Amino acid sequence: MTTGLLFDSYPIGSTMVSWIKDGRGMTRIEDDWTPSIYVASDDRKNLERLARNGKVLQYISSDEIVERVERVTDAARSNVLRLRLRDSHSILDLARTVESLHGYGRYRLYNVDVPPAQSYFYEYDIFPFGRFARKNGWVQEDDVESTDYEIPALRMAYVSVVPRKQSRLARPSDRIDSIIINGEIIRSGDETEIMLQLVSDIRRQDPDLVITSGGDSFDLPYLVHRASENGISHRLVLGREVVPLQRPRRKGTSYFSYGRMYFKPSAVMLFGRIHIDTSSCFIWGGPEDLHGLYEIARVCRMPLQTASRASIGRCMSSLQFYNAERRGLLVPWKPVMAEAFKPRSELLVGDRGGLIFEPEAGAYENVAELDFASLYGSIMEKKNISAETILCPCCQDSENRVPELGYNICRRKGIVPQSLGILLKKRRMYTELLAGPHGERSSVYEARKSALKWILVTSFGYLGFNNAKFGRIDAHMAVCAFARRILLQAVRIAEERGFRVLHGIVDSLWLHRKGATRDEYGHVRDEIVRATGFEMSLEVYRWLVFLPSREDVMVPVANKYFGAFEDGRMKIRGIEARRHDTPEFLRRCQLEVLGMMARAGSISEVRDVMPQALSIYEKYKGDLEGGAVPADELAFTTRASKDVCSYRVNSVQRDAMLQMHAEGDDVRAGQKVRYVITDYSRRTRRTAPLQMAGAGYDVRRYVRMLAECCNTVTRPFGTEIKA
Ligand SMILES: [Zn+2]
Repeated sequence: MTTGLLFDSYPIGSTMVSWIKDGRGMTRIEDDWTPSIYVASDDRKNLERLARNGKVLQYISSDEIVERVERVTDAARSNVLRLRLRDSHSILDLARTVESLHGYGRYRLYNVDVPPAQSYFYEYDIFPFGRFARKNGWVQEDDVESTDYEIPALRMAYVSVVPRKQSRLARPSDRIDSIIINGEIIRSGDETEIMLQLVSDIRRQDPDLVITSGGDSFDLPYLVHRASENGISHRLVLGREVVPLQRPRRKGTSYFSYGRMYFKPSAVMLFGRIHIDTSSCFIWGGPEDLHGLYEIARVCRMPLQTASRASIGRCMSSLQFYNAERRGLLVPWKPVMAEAFKPRSELLVGDRGGLIFEPEAGAYENVAELDFASLYGSIMEKKNISAETILCPCCQDSENRVPELGYNICRRKGIVPQSLGILLKKRRMYTELLAGPHGERSSVYEARKSALKWILVTSFGYLGFNNAKFGRIDAHMAVCAFARRILLQAVRIAEERGFRVLHGIVDSLWLHRKGATRDEYGHVRDEIVRATGFEMSLEVYRWLVFLPSREDVMVPVANKYFGAFEDGRMKIRGIEARRHDTPEFLRRCQLEVLGMMARAGSISEVRDVMPQALSIYEKYKGDLEGGAVPADELAFTTRASKDVCSYRVNSVQRDAMLQMHAEGDDVRAGQKVRYVITDYSRRTRRTAPLQMAGAGYDVRRYVRMLAECCNTVTRPFGTEIKA
């Protein structure tokens, strides 16, 4: 019997392979298991005929009529045909075959796009990074709700591949210069030798996780290409399974989300080890975030290699698919729109669409910020909002009704609230653990809590999204209606107690009353929590600045503010230091000025330290004029909104893309472009793409932007720096 951590599972042909880690090492286990798809039809005879069809028979190992809930809104189970695959990899072939028989529309297909490893986890009620025993099957020794589980030490290998560039940009035809593994450099005149040394180092070090930065888009596909050029493809084995590394079939996909283009490279997966590409991972800030990924893999029941690359919506889906499986509910197959993979800041803005009290720009003292914790997720859970619960036929007299709209809500628990339940519960448990004595575990709890929080944030947008399997726009509107009522209720209570509402947005309020103490703010918070039934946090600022929010069609509310809490911590939203396109050098300067200002206790004290802001500016300006600021600190990072040839306007970004194009590197829509401004006044060659940048940059332009960054934070206090 083997007992240990379920590290990973993946299908190979007619088996499911799993790796279990215990104190001695890794054990490989094989199960004869393949996934099933389900077919429904208005006439049972059609199903029986289908199961005997020769074209179908070649793909399946068994068929059976079973009872399942076909649609989420169905009250009862119905007969459907279950087709078990011979080979996990032919799910789509089978589905397309069924669909093409007897014209479209006769058959309705289910569970086609549930990844096999996930189906396997759901079916046996197991989860990756949980503890299980193997004894003629899986035996639970862990609880997915547990907060004190331990992940044993995993071995890691950080790998990067360095090409010997023949032109200004790296190309697949360039030979490998060196490979770096955990800081050790492998270099040789013989390219084959370098690659085989990597293979043998990996085998000897036997890492569990292989970590790269850009391994999906560059390092690993490049290695595959070089191995093929040197005729050693079959020897390029980096996993524990003796399967050579392969290039993904597609290069990647561009997709549109919340008014922006994104690009996601195809994943390069390993077998028996886990490849994490930190640049494809939505929560990667450093190795401590692995604990957030383990938590997601466990709770959402997804292999870590998938979870680390998945959009948050996909994690949420997996959790819903699991709950669907438990209730015997089928997952409809329909084309899934390419899905959002986006930075945290955009998630917030995009997923909200509620009530706003515009702030009056200016500096304020002694302001309280009250935030509802995961308000939208909590509303869905508490009010039982789900596609099938809104306007259900069974509970038309329900007392639980949607404000404004008056819709009745079902008494039976919906699938969305059921799935959110565990996320909300665990987030709450980690919050409590962090409030108590926790010692060394605090960073682990923080990472897990913040990962859960990010799934909760998107759960709302997901509810009404076309690609959500169980989504529905009425449910989306119901949540908004509840949120508006709750916020209005909070505003009314605050105003009745003599507080002025400076700003309110969706689930946060900023209150002010001259001379109010922290206790008084605490009382009004408690009263709101009691009246609404939803938890709220409280923070008090010594001083706080609201900036005028920029008009932007796609982003209706660009929240822009910064301030210092009572304990000197800063909170910054929407200004340069928080933006993803800001060069590191400018960001650092703005943060240094803000850090200095945060020590001031009041508006007049901030005014007093303005001369220090000026000297910080002068110091950075001196560095710029000295010409020694490295290119990567000055690089802007933007996403291409379209392919290079589709641009009309001569922006600096297009300028950089054209130069890369000339060197044979076409930037696809949604891909990141990094460039340094070299001469802003010119018409062409105004920039240098970072990969091609030398030491030169446009000093005047950068000095002007530096002054602008400082002015963003000093201007509200009456100090304007002239570049
Ligand atoms: Zn009902």
